[in-house]
Amino acid sequence: MRTNYKRILLKLSGESLMGAQGYGIDTVRLNEYAAQIKDVAASGVQVAIVIGGGNIFRGLSGASKGFDRVKGDQMGMLATVINSLALSSALEASGQPAKVFTAINMFPIGEHYSKWRAIEAMKEGKVAIISGGTGNPFFTTDTGSALRGIEVEADVMLKGTRVDGIYTADPEKDPTATKFSEITYDEVYTRGLKVMDLTATALCKENRLPIIVFDMDTPGNLKKVLAGESIGTLVY
Ligand code: UDP
Repeated sequence: MRTNYKRILLKLSGESLMGAQGYGIDTVRLNEYAAQIKDVAASGVQVAIVIGGGNIFRGLSGASKGFDRVKGDQMGMLATVINSLALSSALEASGQPAKVFTAINMFPIGEHYSKWRAIEAMKEGKVAIISGGTGNPFFTTDTGSALRGIEVEADVMLKGTRVDGIYTADPEKDPTATKFSEITYDEVYTRGLKVMDLTATALCKENRLPIIVFDMDTPGNLKKVLAGESIGTLVY
């Protein structure tokens, strides 16, 4: 595979890991993701991954049920660790080495994250799965992935979703919505598009980390994005 990207940060939402189930981890979806990731890692692209935790727990929805927000967010961050362990297990079972890092020290579940150790793992051919979000409450894994993408000096942040890009309106609700092939960070903001939260978008803008939003649920799409096919939306 020919690609201009040497190092990528792939963001996967927790929600997409639940596949057709309403909760938790769908192993069919998990193995599909692992196969796509293995495919690109095997071609020599360095891959760092941040996974959300929405398939298990979200601090904000916990708070609406009476949980303390900070404890709820910590539960959400732990959910991202669970998802990361699942993905590393699926990758390793497929023959692709992977290493889990945690934002908060919880050795031996994973290695306490540092930029250099994550880069070192990638240079050794391992997929670096960076879990636990930013390690702080009141943030999201989108912000965590923007932060880690900037830290590890990724060329691009790939946001894998179930939608194939950014639309003028929610395409699942509005049939007249049209897709952008590219859009600026500022336009995402001024149009009020719900791509990522504002903290994540601002971090990417300030540090010039381009984002590509694409449909990760179609097998082969990750490879296509890396090969330069414009199947998603570029935010720059
Ligand atoms: N979270 C947090 N700090 C972070 C990242 C995540 O507190 O830096 C918590 C937060 O409660 C969030 C949950 O972890 O709701 C799961 O992450 P997210 O909602 O971003 O997951 P996704 O929507 O991608 O599945």
